[in-house]
Amino acid sequence: LIRFDKVTKRFGDNTVLDRLDFSVESGRHVTLIGPSGSGKTTILRLLMTLTRPDEGTIKVNGDYLTHEERGGKLVPAREKHVREVRKNIGMVFQHFNLFPNMSVLRNITEAPVTVLGMSKDEAEARARELLELVGLSDKADAYPTRLSGGQQQRVAIARALAMRPQVLLLDEVTSALDPELVAGVLDVLRDIARSTDITMLCVTHEMGFARDISDQVLMFDSGRVIESGSPDKMFGEPEHARTREFLSAVL
Ligand code: ATP
Repeated sequence: LIRFDKVTKRFGDNTVLDRLDFSVESGRHVTLIGPSGSGKTTILRLLMTLTRPDEGTIKVNGDYLTHEERGGKLVPAREKHVREVRKNIGMVFQHFNLFPNMSVLRNITEAPVTVLGMSKDEAEARARELLELVGLSDKADAYPTRLSGGQQQRVAIARALAMRPQVLLLDEVTSALDPELVAGVLDVLRDIARSTDITMLCVTHEMGFARDISDQVLMFDSGRVIESGSPDKMFGEPEHARTREFLSAVL
């Protein structure tokens, strides 16, 4: 579903991703772990086209994200093409990023109405279903500032799902939360992982989260995947010395 092919990303002379090959199959729940600065968030930002690769290609659902095929050649994609491919992808950020001046319901219906052209009634019906899924049916008319961090994050998850993406990107979604609010958000994500066929790609520093939510864990170091496997293998019997070293420092 997602394929990075020799993707290089530099910031000045800092090569963050170095000819990265990496793919995620449809329906998988994949977690990226690795030291700070190893390029994990950059991968999610590339998928959201918040930043562009210097070299290499990224495909989502068979379509190039950053390029278009024209006359048998690959050329940089036009904005319209990028928007089409990106419709497959939703993202939840560390700091929720809800629209503060809109009610919870409006936060969720805004993009389906304006981007997908959904009718207001249909978008609201879907938003109410999603609020039920994330356990916030009674908060439709509340404003984000009146909610706890955990509740805001659950609204952000509902908002991302409202676009019916095939892929959900989760960037450190529990790390800004008070510890007692983490479990509620994790429960919601576990439910979504179980009850939908959505593909999840998570970046986290919380190994409990990685273990809980994923069926595949990728260890990143210096812009490359150095080891991957099931959570049991990665946390129980990591093969790579660098993975063992990293895990012993964070567990
Ligand atoms: P963390 O776990 O700390 O979030 P990460 O593995 O997600 O780290 P990235 O956020 O992808 O790492 O950053 C990788 C490197 O790229 C870092 O060295 C960072 O300083 C650099 N970097 C990221 N974004 C930019 C930017 N916009 N301009 C310059 N350098 C950047």
